[in-house]
Amino acid sequence: MDFDLPNEVKIVKRSTREFAEQVIAPLIDDMEQTGDFPAHVIKEMGDIGLLGLITPQEYGGSDLGFLARTVAIQEISRICAAIGCGLQVHHMEIAGILDWGTKEHKEKYLPLLTQGDYLGVVAVTEPTGGSDLMGMTSTAIAEGNEYVLNGRKCFITNSHYCGAPLLIIKTGDGPRGLSAFIVEKGTPGFSPGRHEHKVGLRGANTGELFLQNCHVPKSNLIGDEGQGMKIALKTISEVGRPGMAAVALGILEACLEEAVKFARERVLYGKPIANLQAIQWNIADIMGDLEACKLLCYRASWLKDNERECAVEMTLAKTYSTEAAVRASKKALEIHGGCGTMMEYTVQRLFRDAMVCISAGGTTEIGKIVLSRAAIG
Ligand SMILES: Cc1cc2nc3c(=O)[nH]c(=O)nc-3n(C[C@H](O)[C@H](O)[C@H](O)COP(=O)(O)OP(=O)(O)OC[C@H]3O[C@@H](n4cnc5c(N)ncnc54)[C@H](O)[C@@H]3O)c2cc1C
Repeated sequence: MDFDLPNEVKIVKRSTREFAEQVIAPLIDDMEQTGDFPAHVIKEMGDIGLLGLITPQEYGGSDLGFLARTVAIQEISRICAAIGCGLQVHHMEIAGILDWGTKEHKEKYLPLLTQGDYLGVVAVTEPTGGSDLMGMTSTAIAEGNEYVLNGRKCFITNSHYCGAPLLIIKTGDGPRGLSAFIVEKGTPGFSPGRHEHKVGLRGANTGELFLQNCHVPKSNLIGDEGQGMKIALKTISEVGRPGMAAVALGILEACLEEAVKFARERVLYGKPIANLQAIQWNIADIMGDLEACKLLCYRASWLKDNERECAVEMTLAKTYSTEAAVRASKKALEIHGGCGTMMEYTVQRLFRDAMVCISAGGTTEIGKIVLSRAAIG
């Protein structure tokens, strides 16, 4: 077993860390204040290759794979989990088109997504259907050479900055009654709705998408009619969950750094609190969670890169890492005492961001259902 990252992944890690520290860190205060996504960063992420890590070279990407993607999202999220979340959802749309799109879809959309002209979106959730996918009510009705789309998506990452999002919509009844469509920005009847203000991941754009008698050509169907459930589940479990796991990994790393820094600096009873055993135990717990999650996330990504079954491992990585990030950020905040509750300390943001990661990509309860089914059968 080789636990060392491949050289090309080490290079991605180094350059992403530099980018995150130099370009993204200065944007955080503004994102926290406004709750808005700094759109110009999309193009910059495209320029340094972050958008095309899983895109084949023929469509302008580097095709470095899922391990490289995990490490890149981790590095971005170590500085800013909100941008990490936007980036990981972007890759979800790329993966959806790669796995299920036609040659024409790939040639048309993948270069635009990879260069950063379009920001990727996968819209599944609706007010009546989050965990319960079958609860969605949006409809796509076939009419001649078109489909007519009606409905409302909510909690959608990158909603207000999308170019040509991938939407899962009802074309019939039952699990085979869902289908996937691309709807281009500017199509009459398609518009963003409310922009949500969240407690954490504030700079990740989250909002609604409205469809009102929106006509799209039949050629915008991704996969066959009725494959929407399959497309949603594969994209969420094999790309969305590891993506959120990598975001949590970045938060965990930042928790360890912030906790150690504060413990070394804060002097009580004439010595840094790093000398107190209770503080040391909490730091050891954060470190244990970080290292365990790293193994889960990197192994799951390696399985995907080697075209092995990985949905369960990805779900385990997501469920464990997002919960670990909440645990670790609470401990890191507690190590800061009262300072941990002050807005000028980074640790309060890590705590808020970790809490929001729980729902994105499917909640812990849904993760546990998937895992227990795999174990019990
Ligand atoms: C920051 C963020 C970004 C997101 N981005 C996207 C996106 O890009 N695209 C997208 O489509 N969606 C997105 N979502 C939505 C996300 O996928 C949903 O929030 C999630 O699936 C949960 O759905 P819900 O919020 O409707 O909660 P509900 O499904 O209403 O769940 C409420 C509670 O019930 C529990 N529960 C539900 N079913 C069961 C069960 N069978 N057994 C036990 N407990 C259960 C849940 O775990 C939860 O605790 C995002 C959400 C967030 C917070």
